[in-house]
Amino acid sequence: MTFRLACGDVMPGCTAHFEHADRDQLMTQVVAHAAADHGITTITPEIAEAVGARIQHT
Ligand SMILES: [Zn+2]
Repeated sequence: MTFRLACGDVMPGCTAHFEHADRDQLMTQVVAHAAADHGITTITPEIAEAVGARIQHT
């Protein structure tokens, strides 16, 4: 199974895409990107839920 997230679905205008076989590792990548590129250093439950709801898996 591959998990994918388009950051632009959460942060309109962002073109970053993430892909990983492990959902937790994908979230780790997204969290690092959010901190580096969006200045989001605190992942609230609301943010985690918004991101989680947009993760696609195939
Ligand atoms: Zn982004």
